[in-house]
Amino acid sequence: MPAHSADDPQVADTTADTTADWAATVWDVLVVGAGPAGSSAARTAAEGGARVLLLDRAAFPRYKTCGGGLLGESLRLIPDAARATVESRVGDAVITSGFTRRMRLRSRTPYLAMVRRIEFDQALVAAAQAAGARFVDGVAVREISESVSLVTVRTTAGSVRARVVIGADGTGGRVGRYVGVVPGGVDLGLEDEIAMPADETRWRDTVHLDWGGASGSYAWVFPKRESLTVGVIQRKGAPDATRDYLAAWRAHLGLADATTLHSSGHLTQWRTDTSPLRRGRVIVAGDAAGLLEPWTREGISFALRSGAWAGEAAAAAVRAPDPLDAYAARIDAELGAEQRAGAVILRAFEQHRGLVHSLLRTRRGARYFVRFCRGDTTLARFARHRWAMRIVRTLAGRSPAAR
Ligand SMILES: Cc1cc2nc3c(=O)[nH]c(=O)nc-3n(C[C@H](O)[C@H](O)[C@H](O)COP(=O)(O)OP(=O)(O)OC[C@H]3O[C@@H](n4cnc5c(N)ncnc54)[C@H](O)[C@@H]3O)c2cc1C
Repeated sequence: MPAHSADDPQVADTTADTTADWAATVWDVLVVGAGPAGSSAARTAAEGGARVLLLDRAAFPRYKTCGGGLLGESLRLIPDAARATVESRVGDAVITSGFTRRMRLRSRTPYLAMVRRIEFDQALVAAAQAAGARFVDGVAVREISESVSLVTVRTTAGSVRARVVIGADGTGGRVGRYVGVVPGGVDLGLEDEIAMPADETRWRDTVHLDWGGASGSYAWVFPKRESLTVGVIQRKGAPDATRDYLAAWRAHLGLADATTLHSSGHLTQWRTDTSPLRRGRVIVAGDAAGLLEPWTREGISFALRSGAWAGEAAAAAVRAPDPLDAYAARIDAELGAEQRAGAVILRAFEQHRGLVHSLLRTRRGARYFVRFCRGDTTLARFARHRWAMRIVRTLAGRSPAAR
């Protein structure tokens, strides 16, 4: 936490916070959750001239279950201090399907960046504070209620009022529930943080991926400076099978006995097309809104974009809430298109993972994978090729909403 002088009341030294201090203020914008969505929202709202309070239930810096893989799109969106937390740049991927049919995707220039979320998220919080937002950690939001012009939020440290509230409290969060977010799919991710093995040249700056046997599942190894994040993701509802997949993945890689520094699990969700983004003076961003790419489950770029747009809209909506509708329309136009394409590709992948693997082995497929990771193209742009989407839809067989 950066140190601040006592005569600078705008920025927070959270250890010195008293409830009465921040709870007595009527804030323009209250942001719930200080992940990438919440910190981006707090930063842009403060930059827009709003008086902003950012709350998180965890004591920061906090661990977050996440591979920490950043697409080029995410790198472009973050402040320099967050970019400085990148520990590894990857230009090499080893990909298997059911642990077989090994292929390698090498590029002379890196196409993925790796961060540890504990440092990355802390840097984003610091950027929000530097923009003027007040940050208070260790305080959980319990309940939300609204009058015509104010939102009252009950927390574990008393009630606080704001003109606009942004829910960025992650998957299954309280604000998402208040707004009525409807998940289109929910997955369970399990991860082990492993100390960098002695044969480190095999792991440095190389990503390992495997398309799993259970529909839509996959596994990864993401390298950091001194550790590897080894994880799997699979549709929620089969925790034993998900655990078995992680154990088999570690054994396949020769990492069964490697030193585990941290083991954790977390749910991810993606929204249905019509899931609400706003209720009254409350809007949602990032995982709280179900903004996540359904095929890869990449969520950081969605959190950064939706958070930044939510903050801009909230600052503009302090007097009249109209800009909050514009926020929902922007999400639908820009992120909705990517999610719709991702949902159809996920359906095709669930039924034909071997074919998807074969396509990646082609020169064109490999080039697309690298361009996608670099952020030079998006699934929304892919979806504009009608012939390609016709093929994907045929492979998908039935509507993604049926999942
Ligand atoms: C296993 C796994 C691996 C992943 N790997 C990647 C990856 O490599 N790349 C990628 O792009 N995406 C990845 N994702 C997805 C990514 O982690 C999320 O999409 C991203 O963290 C969403 O950011 P967010 O700010 O919306 O929510 P979060 O990062 O979840 O932040 C939410 C915050 O809200 C706080 N909070 C929750 N409830 C309350 C409350 N009641 N009151 C106050 N605060 C509250 C939490 O403490 C937390 O700090 C992965 C997800 C999982 C599960």
